[in-house]
Amino acid sequence: MSKRIAIIGGGLTGLVAGYRLLQKGCRVTIFEKSGDLGGLLGGFKINGTNLEKAYHHIFKTDKEIISLVEELGLSEKLKWHESKTALYYDGTIYPFAGVMDLLKFKPLNLIDKLRLGLVKIYLEKENNWQKFENVLAYEWMKKWCGDRAYKVVWEPLLKGKFSNGYQDISMAWMWARIHTRGNSSEKGKEYLGYMEAGFQLIINELTNRIKKLGGEIKLNTIADINELADKYDKIISSAPLENVDYLGAVTVVFSSEQNLSKYYWHNINNTDSPFLAFIQHTNLMGNKNYSGKNIYYLGTYLPQNHKYFTCKDSLIEKDFFDYLKKIFPEFNKKEIEEKHVFKFKHAQHIVTRNYRKRIENLNDKKTIHANFAQIYPEDRGINYAVREGEGVGKRI
Ligand SMILES: Cc1cc2nc3c(=O)[nH]c(=O)nc-3n(C[C@H](O)[C@H](O)[C@H](O)COP(=O)(O)OP(=O)(O)OC[C@H]3O[C@@H](n4cnc5c(N)ncnc54)[C@H](O)[C@@H]3O)c2cc1C
Repeated sequence: MSKRIAIIGGGLTGLVAGYRLLQKGCRVTIFEKSGDLGGLLGGFKINGTNLEKAYHHIFKTDKEIISLVEELGLSEKLKWHESKTALYYDGTIYPFAGVMDLLKFKPLNLIDKLRLGLVKIYLEKENNWQKFENVLAYEWMKKWCGDRAYKVVWEPLLKGKFSNGYQDISMAWMWARIHTRGNSSEKGKEYLGYMEAGFQLIINELTNRIKKLGGEIKLNTIADINELADKYDKIISSAPLENVDYLGAVTVVFSSEQNLSKYYWHNINNTDSPFLAFIQHTNLMGNKNYSGKNIYYLGTYLPQNHKYFTCKDSLIEKDFFDYLKKIFPEFNKKEIEEKHVFKFKHAQHIVTRNYRKRIENLNDKKTIHANFAQIYPEDRGINYAVREGEGVGKRI
């Protein structure tokens, strides 16, 4: 008799796990609490084309997602583009993609730049991440990069990503971020992957295949492990973990005729900014799929009790657009064609020192946990969601 499997969560991890288990002959039911599939990778339509509610791209090193895309017959939709990255600091946008950009970066002196460069090289080459597990990222980065380089480049990143808890973050998280990203460059240039017509294509194709194989998908259904235990042989849960703390995220997405920047990704390193990243999506992808309009994201991570999770969208729009006007005085709200605000309550797990202990020994005979917070030391990402989903498929 085939095994009955319940999967909690219809994000990428749950969908990949479900698909693999159906291929092995299991009977699968996927429970998703929201009204659509995809979780953090979920999409919506803007100017007639699917777009992610939260900005997404992949790296050349993301082997698992690239091979899933191939398997699903979607390779020709996956396009690689040279990344154009910038950093906004103290009223100026600086290109910030490679060695030459670093050398020309005015807010730092030559010694600061040398230290930054050497730290980056060291972390890219160093494979022993375990030695950083019990070390605080902010202390280590300050010590080795120097006070000023830390303040200008790294503290805004840590604060933007982890809010008030930034001084608790483990250096293992920082190591992973710099190590994996650095190793995805080719001849000093970084290429980012994005799917024409959106990553929603992957969600749609997996959903079709799951349904064809007889999988059942229950939307708008909050599942509880204890309640499912009697009815299923195994439960796979991609829902948030109890002993991990999470941050939420907010994105504002809009389309406009206006062309604000020549860069794709902008780290906003002024700590009074309400958003951490400004992304001109169409500077990666081009705008032909969006009726010729430019598509923008403003995004940030926030504590789950932040007022943005309960206030009206119009307040968030006001705060974000007012700050955007400081960066780009020519920005004109009246030119906005479509705008959307998205809120994610569980967007990023907080990787404190000795984080490993929090994610050890979670499973029992009946339940396998496969939440993105278990991805460690790497930061969560769609490549690892595929890896987790595949891993679960192999274990049953
Ligand atoms: C702002 C932002 C930007 C990002 N950018 C990138 C990027 O550029 N590249 C990249 O690779 N990754 C990026 N990511 C990360 C990536 O989106 C995630 O790692 C990945 O989508 C996680 O998939 P998942 O299925 O593990 O989790 P989730 O997508 O969180 O899915 C879990 C699902 O479980 C559901 N659920 C939870 N509890 C229950 C319950 N009790 N019952 C039923 N359903 C439940 C949720 O509704 C959700 O749909 C980004 C994430 C954010 C927030």
